[in-house]
Amino acid sequence: MKTRKFTRREVIVTASAGAVGSMINWPLSSIGSPSFAKEKLALLGGEKVHKGTWPDWPVWDQTVEKEIVDMFRTGRWWRGTGEHVEVFEKKYAEMMGARRCLATASGTTALITALEVLGVDAGDEVLVSPYTFIATYNSIFFHKALPVFVDTDPETFLMDPSKIEAKITDRTVAILPVHIYGMPVDMDGVNKVAKAHNLKVVEDACQAWLAEYRGKKTGTLADLGCFSFQNSKHIPGGEGGAILGNDDDIMDKANSIHNCGRPYGKMKPVQGYPYRGGNFRMQQSQALILMSQMKRAQKDNDIRLDNALYLDKKLKEIPGIIPVKPANGATRAVYHLYPFRYKKEAFNNIPKEKFMKAVAAEGVPITGGYGKQNKDLLFEEAFNSRGYKRLFSEERLKKWRDENNLPGNDQVCDEVLSFYQSILLGSKADMDDIVNAITKVYENRNELAKS
Ligand SMILES: *Cc1c(COP(=O)(O)O)cnc(C)c1O
Repeated sequence: MKTRKFTRREVIVTASAGAVGSMINWPLSSIGSPSFAKEKLALLGGEKVHKGTWPDWPVWDQTVEKEIVDMFRTGRWWRGTGEHVEVFEKKYAEMMGARRCLATASGTTALITALEVLGVDAGDEVLVSPYTFIATYNSIFFHKALPVFVDTDPETFLMDPSKIEAKITDRTVAILPVHIYGMPVDMDGVNKVAKAHNLKVVEDACQAWLAEYRGKKTGTLADLGCFSFQNSKHIPGGEGGAILGNDDDIMDKANSIHNCGRPYGKMKPVQGYPYRGGNFRMQQSQALILMSQMKRAQKDNDIRLDNALYLDKKLKEIPGIIPVKPANGATRAVYHLYPFRYKKEAFNNIPKEKFMKAVAAEGVPITGGYGKQNKDLLFEEAFNSRGYKRLFSEERLKKWRDENNLPGNDQVCDEVLSFYQSILLGSKADMDDIVNAITKVYENRNELAKS
């Protein structure tokens, strides 16, 4: 189905609400102009725009079934006696252009291990993005360190490198930027500050498999990069994670720490184990599933990117809808969710929640963005705990609270809406239905506001 073309005047309202960027300059194409002004919103009893289904997730190929049964029958289910996890590590490192890969049980355990390897200790501070999944800063809490938030750029939804320096104290040891939604962070900006202040950098690439920054894969651009393979992710394995790195000593240490602190590589056991560690190992069955999923990852990402750029081009024509802007140096995004900003001013001030209900009623599943996690009660709970009271002075925690004012992040949390990544695996007609559903809500904004 065709989508409606908006007048220049209508589009200017959008443009003045914020700059719009896209990775590719699209040629002007002939966009049709169906109007939905005379059609009733599905929420108000009308017919919905999208009547079909959406792609399922995850998707598997049957070749892996035999491999899993074969492995199952050997009884060698853990990595200590099997070969599959090690093969996966080699393949993943190769696919991402890193020297080494360590597979872990999950993205969270990858982050916990990475911070431990780089020396994050109790009482340290780690600079982190507030616009992320809770696991990112939980990994800092796990070390009894203090997560210190760096504000979010409201146009890219990513850590704003120009806001990092002001948050550094004499206890800061590391920066943990997040490539949220698979949008690459401006890593040159982050690494420059890190270098000047002698800080370690761990990339949370748990949503950024095969995304690229200046042509290199995210997760290979800092000291260490962490990935998640949880069921909803682009390379799903039920659960699973990985750390990428290029330094052999650091990666040997990571292997030791994820394996109860057992010696690894050139380490010589002098007395007992060389490191304090945990059991964060990946299982054989996970590795087999992941290797089969890796085969489709690049092709799926191509489809998502193509559809996301198509949506960018069409959605930015609708007043009040603003697609995400790529950060400096981002050359390929992989869209773990397709995010955009909703300006209610252009929609008769209809609240985001009501807009979402109206779009969902048209048959297009839509979800919100992350909440204002810097205001999560979890922080006060931590700061009032015995351990944190011992580790951080009243004065330091007061400064944390005083500086916990993140206008860029607040704006992103207030305005961002998104579509699941699996929706981006649909057809062009499906994408047109998304555009048409939002167009229909826009054209019926008076009726919706009154309802
Ligand atoms: C999924 C995710 C994690 C955690 O990964 P798990 O495998 O679920 O432990 C961490 N950070 C981000 C940004 C994520 O999306």
